[in-house]
Amino acid sequence: MAANPTILRPELTNLAPYNAGLTLAEVAARKGVTRVAKLGSNENPAGTDPAVVDALENAMRSIGAYPDPVGRNLVARLAEKHGWPQDKFVLGNGSEDLLAVLARAVLRPGDKVVTLYPSFPLHEDYARLMGAEVIRIGLDAEGMIDLPALLDAVAKPVRLVLFANPMNPAGVWLQPADLRRVLAAVHPEAITCVDEAYHEYASGPDYVSAEEQLATYARPLVILRTFSKAWGLAGLRIGYAMTNSDQLRQGFDLARTPFNVNLMAQIAAEAALDHPDAVDRAVALVRIERTRVAKAISDMGMRVLPSRGNFLFFDAGQPSSMIAERLLDHGVIVKPWRQEGYESWLRVSIGSIMDNDQFLMALARIREAAIG
Ligand SMILES: *Cc1c(COP(=O)(O)O)cnc(C)c1O
Repeated sequence: MAANPTILRPELTNLAPYNAGLTLAEVAARKGVTRVAKLGSNENPAGTDPAVVDALENAMRSIGAYPDPVGRNLVARLAEKHGWPQDKFVLGNGSEDLLAVLARAVLRPGDKVVTLYPSFPLHEDYARLMGAEVIRIGLDAEGMIDLPALLDAVAKPVRLVLFANPMNPAGVWLQPADLRRVLAAVHPEAITCVDEAYHEYASGPDYVSAEEQLATYARPLVILRTFSKAWGLAGLRIGYAMTNSDQLRQGFDLARTPFNVNLMAQIAAEAALDHPDAVDRAVALVRIERTRVAKAISDMGMRVLPSRGNFLFFDAGQPSSMIAERLLDHGVIVKPWRQEGYESWLRVSIGSIMDNDQFLMALARIREAAIG
């Protein structure tokens, strides 16, 4: 029986279901597909480090007990890694959990939330769920973040400034000086959250983490990181927040569920931190492949935005859901964008060299069929 919408909160009935990427099994069930390139969810194609698997096998014997509700061991490791006090960290069941917790902790009906557009849908959904109003700052004609509009919007008395840097799905990012200008422009009463899910892929002279501001920024700041992308733990669900605000830290603890991060996830994240070299290797490969794939898409005559993530956002010039469907026929999973104004754009993750080749070959075939 279909749910009767009248029993749900009105804030819910306006939300669209999350557009999650297809699973391997869903695609493998298709006729004629022998190899699947899973390029829809920005996962690390190298998968899980063997040292992490070993740690998980050992941990299995302990799953009868509740996990540490604040993940002391993992937080101690993170505090050391970041040089930031342990009591300013909060763990989440994925960073998406922390986005929901942040919304629950600070957003009141009618509050205004500034975000970048095209957006990570959860940045908007959790805000709307709380009855807040979302203000979208888009890209300019060059496909770059509209900095003047962003500076203007954050200076107004909004409740929350929440954006990903680098942006997902667009992949574009704020130059260090621009990030500093934005943070400096934020209204004195606003809370800022920078979602750095793709931090590991972005580092270089033209990118800086908001982390550099934690110790000096005079207003509440939250930085989100995740183990799902470069660290290869998407299936376990673990991410973390760093903040400069005791109030926010307390708010997160009150608004989250007490055991939000399971034991296996805590153990795996600790083990992963012991092997940063695996991440470095994965990142190095993504950077090379990102350049190669971007050039190939552009050589086919399609517009592709510069990216500091492990993905590319490109305009196929045709309905994205149709192109995605054709790519599926070739065993390639991508994410067709559906937000207004971007219905001909797709996001493709950078995978292994073989995955990327499979994608490029399929895309070329589809283009040829359309033209010829
Ligand atoms: C993937 C992603 C997340 C979610 O990561 P999880 O830790 O797996 O929940 C959060 N923010 C952005 C911008 C992402 O792309």
